[in-house]
Amino acid sequence: MTTSTISVRAPLKGRIVPLGDVPDPMFALGMMGDGVAIEPEVGEVHAPVAGTVTSVHRRGHAVKVMTDDGAEFLVHVGLEAVALRGAGLDAVVAEGDRVAVGDLLIRFDLKALAESCGIVTTPVLVTNEDAFHVTARKSAGAVGLGDEVMTVMPIDAEAPPPVERIERQVVLEMSEGLHARPAALLAAKAKEYASAVEVVLGERKANAKSPVSLLTLGSRWGSRLVVSAEGADAAAAVDGVIEAIASGLGDPVVPYVDAGQETLPGVAEAASAVEEPPVDLTPFGPEDRPLLGGVVAAPGLAIGRAVHLKEKVARPAEAGGDVAAESAALDAAIARVHQHLSEQATAGRTPQQRDIMAAHAALLEDTELLEGARDRIAHGKSAGWAFSDTISAQAALLRGLDNARLAERAADLVDLEQQVLTVLAGGSPESLTLPEDAIAIADDLLPSQFMAFGDRLPAAFVVAKGGRTSHVAILSAASGVPMLAAVGADARRIPEGTPLIVDAERGEIQVNPTEATIEATRKAAAERETRRAANREAAPIDCLMADGTRLPVYANVGSVADAARGLAFGAEGSGLLRTEFLFLDRPTAPTEAEQQAEYQAIADALRGKPLTIRTLDIGGDKPLPYLKQAAEENPILGVRGIRVSRRRPDLLRQQFRAILKVTPVSVVRIMMPMIADIGELRWAKAIFEEEKAALGITADVPLGIMIEVPAAVAMADKLAREAAFFSIGTNDLTQYVLAMDRGNTELAPEIDSLHPAVLKTIADAAAAGARHDCPVGVCGGLASELPAAPILIGLGVTSLSATRSGIPDLKAFIRTLDKDTCRAVAEEALALDSAADVRAMVARRWPDL
Ligand code: PEP
Ligand code: MG
Repeated sequence: MTTSTISVRAPLKGRIVPLGDVPDPMFALGMMGDGVAIEPEVGEVHAPVAGTVTSVHRRGHAVKVMTDDGAEFLVHVGLEAVALRGAGLDAVVAEGDRVAVGDLLIRFDLKALAESCGIVTTPVLVTNEDAFHVTARKSAGAVGLGDEVMTVMPIDAEAPPPVERIERQVVLEMSEGLHARPAALLAAKAKEYASAVEVVLGERKANAKSPVSLLTLGSRWGSRLVVSAEGADAAAAVDGVIEAIASGLGDPVVPYVDAGQETLPGVAEAASAVEEPPVDLTPFGPEDRPLLGGVVAAPGLAIGRAVHLKEKVARPAEAGGDVAAESAALDAAIARVHQHLSEQATAGRTPQQRDIMAAHAALLEDTELLEGARDRIAHGKSAGWAFSDTISAQAALLRGLDNARLAERAADLVDLEQQVLTVLAGGSPESLTLPEDAIAIADDLLPSQFMAFGDRLPAAFVVAKGGRTSHVAILSAASGVPMLAAVGADARRIPEGTPLIVDAERGEIQVNPTEATIEATRKAAAERETRRAANREAAPIDCLMADGTRLPVYANVGSVADAARGLAFGAEGSGLLRTEFLFLDRPTAPTEAEQQAEYQAIADALRGKPLTIRTLDIGGDKPLPYLKQAAEENPILGVRGIRVSRRRPDLLRQQFRAILKVTPVSVVRIMMPMIADIGELRWAKAIFEEEKAALGITADVPLGIMIEVPAAVAMADKLAREAAFFSIGTNDLTQYVLAMDRGNTELAPEIDSLHPAVLKTIADAAAAGARHDCPVGVCGGLASELPAAPILIGLGVTSLSATRSGIPDLKAFIRTLDKDTCRAVAEEALALDSAADVRAMVARRWPDL
């Protein structure tokens, strides 16, 4: 083995994305290996190193190459789910082939893949991290084919024995604690050192080189962490890790003022906990017809009968027998489950099933997990107890974090525990068979339970716990099976065999519905599906009202993927690009070129349709890590939107330039957020004209404003004379008109943009727009609501920009409307007393909505 550095070359031309930012936890948390990811600009993957091809995925999206030194690299086109769905992937090498750096490995249709899936991010990873580690990597910017993207070195197997143990404390000042992305970055930092590095919080201890382990610390802002390292470069490792933590790792750093003893996580909550009311588990009787609520985890509608899924396998006795025998039993059980998962990873019914089973098989190889169990066995515990205890500890910690997505990953760990315990108890993974109309009820459904159904899936799932983003939710949605999660203890009160209607659109379960209700539901479901399919079919056609009025419907976007997908749903362009979303996650400000590239990519994805780019709207609930802002008592009423631009005109100028360089510039419209005063518009306009002139652009590029501050409504006549267009941000407008924080959960049921007071401001803005020939669109959340469409149009709104998935139904509804009806409905709405009255009025007129 050589000790020289391996230079890893970009396998394709594109833009670097830090691994922690990849929207798939398997990659982001480094579970597949360490490295970088690239957003490709071309559809050809070349060898990042010279060596032998050790594996080629049969779908052609992933190739592994091993260097002669034994370092193995994986290039993976798109994230797993994406790649598996994408057609047109073609690996041109075979296992055993020798390749030189730059040799072609995979050819793929970038455009088709981007259109069908949106995400084509391509990770380039070193997979045998036990033997090799990344010593340097490119963290941002453009790369050309063959540019060096990282360097990798062997971990010296014969490292000298530890010579030093260093320990230092640091107070965590990252506002959100060590969540997934910074945990991945910190682990990458720790891996730069040969020493073993640990981070301790209270009684919890984490391997600093494992992102998952760091997550399980459950650290928060103000947590006092002890960083220790043991090895030849211990001092440098501790310094490096502490420095990284202090830097915020891309998250905002909020100085911590020590107010005495830190409360350990969990203690404060326990002290202030109010006793929970007792849970009623009385079974529902045949005459009880309760309507239960749940969170829609996979949409759809099902009619069937309740079937309760079996209970979990209990944890076996703690005391173990002979250590070697217990170890062997655990190894055999793990191997059996691993084999089962691997088989399912190839034979699963949908790509998502195969995907998740492969991920589970990989989790079973987690050294932390295996070492934890072996350590317990060595201390006299039984194989089952040891494995179960190790998993439970990790799962409990994941659940305890303030991150719903990670908490749901705990279910995956518990699933593995169940599988292994079943095998240890002499069982084998069995397939469940259910009646065809079964509505499967589970306390907390596990992916393996889901997989056990094979092809014979139930009509719907009802889960007492769980949430929207759990793996089973993804599996269920991909299989087209409706699922309601978080139904609570009432799910256990449904007796076996009870007739149920699961409405995973409204989030309701009808227990014991009458025959008449069942019949009506069947009919409505069939009709709705036919209608939806037709709406999707007609979505690409331009939206004309019944009286011939043109009413364009655009999509709100925050990324290139959003733009591509929006178009597929019939968007006629974008009425709002939230540019802050493009750069929210970066530790450093994007350069003008980086911005320009993003805007251009989005414009290209929209294929010549209009693109409305909003200048940076930060502050309030959207702080930017690279733009330090002073703490504010009321950030919602603070330095937000254009107010930030006033203080940083350099950023606004740079953004104007990047936008103006989009070609063709004729597709672009620009708008500014949070305008409250004509002076702000004039100031921005002057800067805009200067930048435009400096670039020699003579074409007309409309400069409009958001109407989302009540002051702008009051000044609408003046503003309409000088703005190219208005775009009403109903989210902020509602919050400021009703004086209700849009992020306040307690007020969530009351903050409704259909409140007549809000409608009155929209009417005023639209009327001013009409008086001065200034088009008035709506891009806030209200534009996506079907019941709002006739009212907004009746108030004088001339375009809508909505969430992409609702566009087909929205366009179909607008096609049935005419201006006179809309005006009458709008007038009626303005005269009502409350948002509830407005909704009731619309429901009376359009009962089918
Ligand atoms: C709005 O306020 O309605 C809006 C569209 O802007 P954002 O939601 O980004 O604040
Ligand atoms: Mg807003």
